[in-house]
Amino acid sequence: MQDKRVSADGVYEAWQPFAGVWAIEEGGVRSFLIDGGEEALLIDTGFGKGDLKSFLSTLTQGEIRLVNTHADGDHLGCNHQFAQAFMHPAEFDRYLFEKERPCAPVPLWEGEHLRCGGFDLEVVLIPGHTPGSIALLDEKKRLLISGDSVQSGAVYLFGQGRNLPAYRASLDKLAALSYRFDWVLPSHGEALIPASALRDVREGAAALQAGQLQPQEPPRPMPCKLYTTGKASFLYEA
Ligand SMILES: [Zn+2]
Repeated sequence: MQDKRVSADGVYEAWQPFAGVWAIEEGGVRSFLIDGGEEALLIDTGFGKGDLKSFLSTLTQGEIRLVNTHADGDHLGCNHQFAQAFMHPAEFDRYLFEKERPCAPVPLWEGEHLRCGGFDLEVVLIPGHTPGSIALLDEKKRLLISGDSVQSGAVYLFGQGRNLPAYRASLDKLAALSYRFDWVLPSHGEALIPASALRDVREGAAALQAGQLQPQEPPRPMPCKLYTTGKASFLYEA
């Protein structure tokens, strides 16, 4: 029986796709908590609809370090509950744009390792969805935490800071690393997808750039079109 926990405010539901890894669902976005015993890593803070920090204290006794996969609003909602957030410096502009933040950004560079209990997460820079998007790769656990860049839901590729050629290059980079992971844990869509899903997204992005996909209306009014092929979909400018 899957151990599910619901927060007191009813906003969050947490479950463990792997021992020591909590997926924290917030209806449309997902954060992760890596519980390493005395320390813990929080990956993103969701929309901010509830009291995330209080809920986390029921899941871990560890000292929590916050990491943001990127600085879109749906990943920062409870950042204000923390003093600092690790992220790639290419996200600082997005993070601080027109906004003062009580939670200070701290540089996290490509190739750095975040160690926590038995976990060892390597930072992989994957620009495209945003300039400083990162994935976190745990080679021993065979896991990739992918943010928004590899997922079964629609990848946002319209608006400021998005870049389709950079996104494609990042997917190529992940494909070259894919012998090091079996499972992908994304922020949206299905919580746990096999590494082979990367191929669908990669082929889809190539077809999108080649103009081979038919534009459809997006699910709600947005200044973009929806492009779908196989298991991959993208929101991209018309
Ligand atoms: Zn997102």
